Amino acid sequence: MGVVRIVEWSDEALRALDRVPFFVRKRVRARVEEEARARGADLVTAAHLETCRRRFLKRMEDEVKGYRVETCFGPGGCPNRAVVEESLAPELERRLARKDLKGFLLSRVRGPLKMHHEFQVSVSDCPNACSRPQIADIGLIGAREPRITDEACSLCAACVEICREKALSLNDAGPVLDSGKCLACGQCIEACPTGTLKQGARGYRVLAGGKLGRHPRLASDVGGIFDTDRVLEVVERVVGFYMRYCREGERLGEILRNKGPDELAGFVGNGL
Ligand code: SF4
Ligand code: SF4
Ligand code: SF4
Repeated sequence: MGVVRIVEWSDEALRALDRVPFFVRKRVRARVEEEARARGADLVTAAHLETCRRRFLKRMEDEVKGYRVETCFGPGGCPNRAVVEESLAPELERRLARKDLKGFLLSRVRGPLKMHHEFQVSVSDCPNACSRPQIADIGLIGAREPRITDEACSLCAACVEICREKALSLNDAGPVLDSGKCLACGQCIEACPTGTLKQGARGYRVLAGGKLGRHPRLASDVGGIFDTDRVLEVVERVVGFYMRYCREGERLGEILRNKGPDELAGFVGNGL
């Protein structure tokens, strides 16, 4: 594979990019950089952006892929990652590509396909949820649960201090965990010097049915923490549920609003 030439962005172009809707910004950015490279430019200008914007709007249906996978900046080296799994996003891309979601949407949507019809998967590597998984059709959030072991606690309180959720307290014997408050960020495990807190379940929580638009809905948690293989299986099942019940290109959140979460739980739960 050839080396991709890096291009810089002018301040004006960056300001214009900020005005592009966030859900297509990444794709527009990549297209604009391609455009600048093709023209031999080292600096992206507002003119490159405008050319791409016009082309993008004119050929919107060609640009629609049928699905999109967004990730947070975790793989770029964020120290907060509760899960470090570089293969998940590319594998999600591969599996979603195999489903021909664009062909599916073309058979369901009346009128031209638009970006908002695409099935969205958003992956965040920790509960800070920077990629906004709560408003995607499927949101995956990295989780690392603490487990209290028999190792003697020094009562140093480092775990209590680091926990932003106030999920940990201390008594004479050691830490007490309020699992109802814990978001499974894993920070207390890192902070514990004695091994009293060790890692329990690690993987991804799965949220389903988030959307914006006229009737916004925050995605609901299907329950559980899944390792990479199982999370891929859950995603396949949720997509299967969506393709079974989607009639006219409606988002998963609308389907869930009508069907109720139990129907999805039945679809997802068996054998996992
Ligand atoms: S979601 Fe967490 S891991 Fe990802 S970029 Fe945000 S803080 Fe970092
Ligand atoms: S995993 Fe995070 S939220 Fe849970 S107790 Fe530890 S620091 Fe608090
Ligand atoms: S559990 Fe670990 S971090 Fe928390 S008080 Fe005990 S030794 Fe310190």
